[in-house]
Amino acid sequence: MRVTIKERYANELTYEVCRCIAERLNLPLDFEIQYKKGNGRYVLLEHDGFKYYVIVSRLSADARDAFLNQYVTTVLGEYVDDKSFVKKLYVYVLDKSQKAKAKYIVDGYRMLKTMGINILNIDELRMEINPYVTFEDWKNAQDKMREYNKGNNASYAIEDEEGGYTLFGKLYGANGKDAAMTACMLACIAKSNDTFVRFIQVCEHGTEEISSTDKKLLQSFGVIIDSGAIVLKGKAAGKDKSTCRHQDEFKYNLWEKYGDKKCYMCSCDIESNIIASHIHRICDIDKSGLPEAEKRRQAVDADNGFWLCANHDKLFEFGNVTYDMCGDLVINPSLKSNQTDFVKYITEKYGIEKAHFTAGLKVYLKIHNNRVHLGI
Ligand SMILES: [Zn+2]
Repeated sequence: MRVTIKERYANELTYEVCRCIAERLNLPLDFEIQYKKGNGRYVLLEHDGFKYYVIVSRLSADARDAFLNQYVTTVLGEYVDDKSFVKKLYVYVLDKSQKAKAKYIVDGYRMLKTMGINILNIDELRMEINPYVTFEDWKNAQDKMREYNKGNNASYAIEDEEGGYTLFGKLYGANGKDAAMTACMLACIAKSNDTFVRFIQVCEHGTEEISSTDKKLLQSFGVIIDSGAIVLKGKAAGKDKSTCRHQDEFKYNLWEKYGDKKCYMCSCDIESNIIASHIHRICDIDKSGLPEAEKRRQAVDADNGFWLCANHDKLFEFGNVTYDMCGDLVINPSLKSNQTDFVKYITEKYGIEKAHFTAGLKVYLKIHNNRVHLGI
């Protein structure tokens, strides 16, 4: 049997580790390890024309990304590139302590399982790993984790109005690895739900685009990589000026301001029903005669919008509801009483929260209210 590892991991992927793996796979235990240059934290075992790629975790599960997730896409890339037909990909976990069962680490196991990658020695962790079956399933788990670990916002995904999944993935370092793995995992969920994943690149720390290896990998999973990119902190983004790009950036900014897709007026959180709704409309911004840079700023400015459900989006656009300049909800008095009752019935929240009612928002609201002759 042939066993190969990358020489940079020789200290941790020892003969003992390889032997444990071989045992798990019921492979011969008499082998010598061959060392190769390059990246990829995995053991490759070749026997009888069959190839087993085994991603191996770090020795200790002290940090989420550094434990396992950050190694996945590199190995996955090589695995997908390997055109052998008889191959299989596994994970082997070196830390079997309680630390390796932390919520955010188990999330990684579940993501792997969703991609059809099993942990060889899961019995040693004494737990069962369930894959994410639906987008909501994964999203709920992320929400729970965010409560637990608020700083962790490597990537953010929404179900869009077309029913596809849009993933905003940060590109830098461990975030980049995490986003790429998430994209592959979502692609597996999308496939079984007959839909697609769009990957929007979010640039930070000077990264301009996704690495060519991750790009190739994502494409092999059927992920659509958007050609442009969002640059954080409002700097001018990419080469492409399409309105579509603006819309993605606008959504990302709304997420940063308001959090997950949820109607501001009724709290409906059925994501495919929620629209990134402008206060000062894009068509009016386009006609405004302002310099392009200013038009662009207004089009993506989180202060110029809310997440609204399809109903509230239209009610707001046509001036059947708005907010007055104190931030209180106003229902158009020209509605018939049964229509007013309907609006009241579907509305839950009657004002803009103080933290959201910024000077910038007031400027847009004034323009809107003048247009619809309400709440002025
Ligand atoms: Zn609503």
